[in-house]
Amino acid sequence: MKLTRSSAIVPETDVTVAGWVHELRDLGGISFLLLRDRDGIMQITMPKKKVPPELVEHVRSLSRESVVRVAGLVKEELKAPQGFEIIPYEVELLSAAESPLPLDVTGKVRADLDTRLDARFMDVRLPATRAIFLIRATVLQEVRAFLSAHDFIEIQTPKMVATATEGGTQLFPISYFDREAFLNQSPQLYKQIMMAAGLERVFEVGPIFRAEEHDTRKHLNEVTSIDIEASFLDDREVMELLEELIRHVYVAVAERCSASLQALGVSLLIPNIPFKRIAYAEAIETADIPWGDDLDTAAEKAVGEEVGEHYFIVDWPVELKPFYVQPRNNLCYAFDLMHPRMELASGARRIHDYALLVEQLASKSLAPENFGFYLDAFRFGMPPHAGWGLGAERLLVTMLGLANIRESVLFPRDRRRITP
Ligand code: ATP
Ligand code: MG
Repeated sequence: MKLTRSSAIVPETDVTVAGWVHELRDLGGISFLLLRDRDGIMQITMPKKKVPPELVEHVRSLSRESVVRVAGLVKEELKAPQGFEIIPYEVELLSAAESPLPLDVTGKVRADLDTRLDARFMDVRLPATRAIFLIRATVLQEVRAFLSAHDFIEIQTPKMVATATEGGTQLFPISYFDREAFLNQSPQLYKQIMMAAGLERVFEVGPIFRAEEHDTRKHLNEVTSIDIEASFLDDREVMELLEELIRHVYVAVAERCSASLQALGVSLLIPNIPFKRIAYAEAIETADIPWGDDLDTAAEKAVGEEVGEHYFIVDWPVELKPFYVQPRNNLCYAFDLMHPRMELASGARRIHDYALLVEQLASKSLAPENFGFYLDAFRFGMPPHAGWGLGAERLLVTMLGLANIRESVLFPRDRRRITP
């Protein structure tokens, strides 16, 4: 079907368009069909004098949200939604919508999030919902463009694995033929192995699975993680890369997604770089928590309110960070990137010395024999390296000021939700 998208329509041409019946209006001598496609709303105008009565009747019988194809003549009409109207000579019903609808698509009555997620196909028809996913696509495109321009190679690592990345217990078990296996919680071990493989700079945009029983507005059980690992760079250098990436994405979204931002009512503030570096010792003082405690939600909030913009927490106690992080006395070369509302990314300079890595595994009560395939990569020439993992959904919700992380995923997976 050769169609013209509404954003590409020019007056005084014959067009064929298709979309969803947004609204019908009958003013006696003239009736209107507001037809919605991905780009916006089109006004189909039917003056009684110009359009045959059978056609007007046919249009009036259409149920809301039905899919139709319209052929007609375009006229400039500055009062219409996109500055034009179409006088139809043919209207074909392609798919009738049942009623009542599961959601109000005009956005006049906003349904609660659970109802919207249950009828996601209908919810995404709303411009304000669709905007989130147009921006999401742009964010991930720009992440790939930025990292590729910085010499990173995109890789894919396995999502079904035999061992935990960090020995944690928060894994989803799966049955793998006659064995138990797990959904991977992070590409960490594999991206590090690629440093031994000589790829030097890799990135992955892919799912990670966390079996934590959270029920918060910032946790999901399936996340899209943006992960990098780079040889011959240290923690400071990958932090700089991370803040440049964040800024790049904000600038690109501001430039490329103005209509979507408007649909969401968001005016984007581009963060300034470099972000502040705050020592763990300073952060716990602000949050009033004891040495050795991780920052919980209340602590993140306290520090976030104090700083008021993106910042890094550095100089973490070694016991709070995973075994593969390079220690420095009782501290380590790890960092978290924070938005005032929540953590966005964690990263570190990694251990590349085999003996030290085995020692650190043992100190975290992990069995080196479970990590054989990983440890082997450190025995035959492993360059120094560093990297981070950034949650795509958290980047989106903080950028757009969305209230709940579930808003940023088409089909979120949480403690209660595995369908649709
Ligand atoms: P938090 O302490 O906030 O639960 P984390 O420190 O356990 O996060 P990491 O293991 O450091 O998370 O993962 C790196 C990044 O991946 C996080 O900074 C976050 O952006 C994202 N991420 C991790 N787990 C989740 C989750 N359950 N839901 C949403 N994003 C997540
Ligand atoms: Mg973290």
